[in-house]
Amino acid sequence: MNYILFAVPFFFLLIALELLADRWRGTSTYRLGDALNSLSAGVLSTTSGLLTKGIGLVTYVFAWQHLALFELSAQSAWVWVFAFVFYDFCYYWNHRLGHERSILWAAHAVHHQSEEYNLSTALRQTSTGFLFGWIFYLPMAVAGVPPLVFLTVAALNLLYQFWVHTRHIPKLGWFEWVFISPSNHRVHHAQNPVYMDRNYGGVFILWDRLFGTFQEELDEEPVVFGVTVPLASWNPLWANLQVYAALWNDARRAGSWWDKLRIWFMRTGWRPADVAARYPLQKPDLATFRKFEVPLSRGRQWYAALQFAGYV
Ligand SMILES: [Zn+2]
Ligand SMILES: [Zn+2]
Repeated sequence: MNYILFAVPFFFLLIALELLADRWRGTSTYRLGDALNSLSAGVLSTTSGLLTKGIGLVTYVFAWQHLALFELSAQSAWVWVFAFVFYDFCYYWNHRLGHERSILWAAHAVHHQSEEYNLSTALRQTSTGFLFGWIFYLPMAVAGVPPLVFLTVAALNLLYQFWVHTRHIPKLGWFEWVFISPSNHRVHHAQNPVYMDRNYGGVFILWDRLFGTFQEELDEEPVVFGVTVPLASWNPLWANLQVYAALWNDARRAGSWWDKLRIWFMRTGWRPADVAARYPLQKPDLATFRKFEVPLSRGRQWYAALQFAGYV
């Protein structure tokens, strides 16, 4: 059963509510091009997922059948609670390395390219996460968590993450200590140096507090959303390829074979010395940061929105 697909109408309903909240409060957290780009990435991810999600499932079931150390039953309530928490622990490491290692960042970057932050950003999902993502959940199969339980807690984890993508909800007191919240996830989507590579949990922020990756949202440091190498495009296919293409180009230009090979597995941002010298990347200055925009007349905006609604 595909839980996420059933939730889609509620996603759109909540997006409509957030747009109304924008109206009432006189704020603007949406721009048409950006929102359509995020939703297009979501559509692409869902569509390609019909073919690619099988990889994660097949490897999981195989590992569960052949490597499981314990027989855990889907009938026991504690197995569900255990699986829910265990999944988030695996998610933490998948997500953390998704930021820290180049080849994994190439897949995950899609979720971070939006320079806005709203509920449409939540649906901005990668189409290539299937390549390596499955590896991080194999410990659950080895522990004996049945595939049905695994799939269900995975869907619940992803569903939970939807509501935190909003600027309308402030800090939530004690909640901030235990759970991922709108405030601590805004930090995660920031490109301010003080906020980078922080708050990786899916449901629980406890892992970040435990492993030293927690950062609180600070009043004196307003979040600038987006990535330091901007996508600067509304093309959802390019959104999925941009980082791979940059790594490929650097690998091609590198003089040494060792560099050509290791560039994929190095820390995100690492470049071979000869390539960095010949093709320098200028670090953007956040003080002069401007969001990517393509100015469109009202008529064209309506056309873009209607065409998008049609193909969805
Ligand atoms: Zn992330
Ligand atoms: Zn997010």
